[in-house]
Amino acid sequence: MIRRLATLAFFVAAYASAATIYEGARLITGDGSTPIENSAFVVDNNRITAVGRKGQVKAPAGATHVDLTGKTVIPALLDGHTHLGWAILSNGRMDKDTYSKENLIDHLQRLAYYGVAASFNMGIDPGDAIYQVRANPVPGAALIRTAGRGMAMPNAGPGRDIWRPVVYGVSTEAEARRDVDELAAKKADVVKIWVDDRNGTVPKLKPELYRAIIDEAHKHNLRVVAHIYYLSDGKDLLRSGIDGFMHLVRDRDVDDEMIQLLKQHPNVFVTPCLPDKGSSESDFALMSETLPPAEVQRLRKAQDAETPEARKKDRDFFDLQARNLAKYNAAGVKIALGTDSSTTVGWDVHQELADMVAAGGLTPMQAIVAATKTAAAFMKLDRLGTIAPGKSADFVVLDANPLDNIANTRRISKVVIRGAEIDRATLSAKWTKQ
Ligand SMILES: [Zn+2]
Repeated sequence: MIRRLATLAFFVAAYASAATIYEGARLITGDGSTPIENSAFVVDNNRITAVGRKGQVKAPAGATHVDLTGKTVIPALLDGHTHLGWAILSNGRMDKDTYSKENLIDHLQRLAYYGVAASFNMGIDPGDAIYQVRANPVPGAALIRTAGRGMAMPNAGPGRDIWRPVVYGVSTEAEARRDVDELAAKKADVVKIWVDDRNGTVPKLKPELYRAIIDEAHKHNLRVVAHIYYLSDGKDLLRSGIDGFMHLVRDRDVDDEMIQLLKQHPNVFVTPCLPDKGSSESDFALMSETLPPAEVQRLRKAQDAETPEARKKDRDFFDLQARNLAKYNAAGVKIALGTDSSTTVGWDVHQELADMVAAGGLTPMQAIVAATKTAAAFMKLDRLGTIAPGKSADFVVLDANPLDNIANTRRISKVVIRGAEIDRATLSAKWTKQ
């Protein structure tokens, strides 16, 4: 009898979970087209199988109906520039010894909590943990893609000292090519280079070295993306065949020559990674969903302790980059959302969306496309980024329309990642416990 019941229960579960039809929401598909009001879409076996208007999309026999009337659905978001795995988010500690597979998975779960389906780690992943996690996606967590170990002049790459030894230090073209070959053998998703002298404090990757890196990477069908700071480097990298910029130009306003060069290289992606200009009350509320109160308090105090001069400097740096983003956007450059986050995992995506709209000249729809379709194209994740038949069932249900106010991406009602709903309440309770 028990066995019979179990069998019956199995069949009921299998039958009931065969397909789900979500009905009544305003649907923003991620491709930039006009939203579908009063939509319906079907999810079957973790895939989206039909999309249209309610009443016109047929529910498969036995499908579960989910009423989303009054809600707005967007594709799950993607973050094209992260440094996950390093920070212990419960206390903000990050040091030489804090990178771990456990942290990495924790961060990917936090991304899922905030409606993010995938992120792209940009060049500071020591060892093979990143490749193991990439190959074995954790249920309920975002997918990860990686540049593995990036490349710079010796001990002159990332901004933090603890990260510099992780990166390949290259001095000769032969070394550069050998390191690219190693990355290709590991099947890194992209090659990341740092072209920056950190305000004159470190040697900048030499043009003959980055040209060798780009040449060798392209032989392997690998793309090369660059951290840049200076306008002049941006121009020379474009002329050298670079495939993407992981920052905006940050030393000055871009000129017409740079815009022309970008237009001549229409396949180049840019992750803006607008810099921190301080967190708003709404930002603090958002991070409070996944951090213990003491940690939020610590971050708040650190922000309050900033001098007016430091704040003004941050604001000017932000405004310069926002102006450059607006110019890129007006020129039709491929903008993929990126946060550059290591310690601000998850909520930063919503902060970046808001910043791109408030200061960077993007419409809410353009910001959403940057975080969905374009970011998925940059990451070569062709089953993410849009809601259409054949795509993976990764989407976010919102209580309010982000086209009215981009801050409404924070008003999350439900997150579905690879067909399964994230248990946000349980995760939040776990992470916020003191
Ligand atoms: Zn970065």
